[in-house]
Amino acid sequence: MSMYERLFRSVLYPAYESGLRGRKTLRYLQEYERQQWLSPEELRALQTTKLRALLEHCQVQVPYWRRRFRELGFTWQDLRQPEDLAALPPIGKDEIRAHYDDMIAENWRGKTWRKATGGSTGQPFAFEYTRESYERRMAVMQRGYAWAGASFGVKRLDVWGGDLGLSSSSQRFKAGLFDSVLRRRVVSAFDMRRDNLHEYAQAIESWRPQVIVGYTSALETLADWILDGNPLGWHPDSVITAAEMLSDRQRAALERAFGAPVFHTYGCREFMLIGAECEHHHGYHASDDHLVVEIADETGKPLVADVGNVLITDLHNWGMPFLRYANGDLARASDGAERCPCGRGLKRFGPVEGRRLDVLRTPDGRIIPGEFFPHLLKEVAAVDRFQVRQRQLDCLELLIVSKGEFTAADESFLRDKISGVTGDATRLDIRLVDDIPLTPSGKRRVTVSELPTDAA
Ligand SMILES: [Zn+2]
Repeated sequence: MSMYERLFRSVLYPAYESGLRGRKTLRYLQEYERQQWLSPEELRALQTTKLRALLEHCQVQVPYWRRRFRELGFTWQDLRQPEDLAALPPIGKDEIRAHYDDMIAENWRGKTWRKATGGSTGQPFAFEYTRESYERRMAVMQRGYAWAGASFGVKRLDVWGGDLGLSSSSQRFKAGLFDSVLRRRVVSAFDMRRDNLHEYAQAIESWRPQVIVGYTSALETLADWILDGNPLGWHPDSVITAAEMLSDRQRAALERAFGAPVFHTYGCREFMLIGAECEHHHGYHASDDHLVVEIADETGKPLVADVGNVLITDLHNWGMPFLRYANGDLARASDGAERCPCGRGLKRFGPVEGRRLDVLRTPDGRIIPGEFFPHLLKEVAAVDRFQVRQRQLDCLELLIVSKGEFTAADESFLRDKISGVTGDATRLDIRLVDDIPLTPSGKRRVTVSELPTDAA
């Protein structure tokens, strides 16, 4: 632990957290850091205890689950091991939307926070969560990032979304108070162009981060430019990729460009971090002491060493408990036979398949990560599903399935924000449609580029 990290943990961060915000994140982090070294058997016992408490809470306090349990002839006492959860059918976004109020615990009404997400499948979605679950999510994310060397207080550069429509370079390379306490700088992933990539390289060379964190596609854009005869004058100790899939080819390119190992993470807006790679890079360690991660077939039957739906049960969001929630991703279940050589008792799964957001491009050389669009579309309540398609360099098609009335004000809001990142040389064609077709493999895609790859 570096001197700064010690100082950070003992003085700066606690002052920031408890003094300014009254959060318990650091205490939870200590708890999760300790628990990751428990044996698989001990973690199983811990998970069972947490699950039984959660299910009892659902039965007593949550109208939706109380009714479902009764219909299924299930009670919380029936759960004696995590596998017994399979008695409950998986639920998806439609089920949660249809029973929204009944899914909120009676003893948490009026005390939860609401969060909207753009949805990795092009279907905006909202849910409720508690302050405790938020603080725990922050802690679990911190634990997973620490496996990649990004402990608290380590110098970080994030190539990230954040605010919409950043344009000036001072905004693009901002460092607020929060970021300077955390020794973290954030640069916008939504404002990359062929002619400003050198500014991103300069940001790395002048800040000299130990860890670079970002969207896979944004880091790939930068990596391709670096490998195209623009070597970096500074190498971080590690690179963390998030929010999108990472192919073997992308991993190799990032490792060559940044001269550091790549650690991929997997999460979604509903739960934040679900799994992360340790130094052995064999799939993701699941946060078994925080979530139950299952890989199951269409009927909800858990799979072994096969690809299926990701189902998540959040052990700590008692405000709106999600049990066996299918987030729309597919992943490979491990065979469970071999324990990771790192010594952590947390189970492994992965790789994850199915979260693919194509990069979009503009005639003046801008490179827009697909993640921009879920960020934006969640702001418009009338959008039920959407997809962005690019068939020509100078045109984007935004297909929207609306719920309720999609107003002229909604349209001009979207036009304004989108032209803010695409510039004026791109035509935007917004169309209301009845449905958005699935891909041949049955998935929903948020952004689809049909440009030849040499358009880059
Ligand atoms: Zn490991």
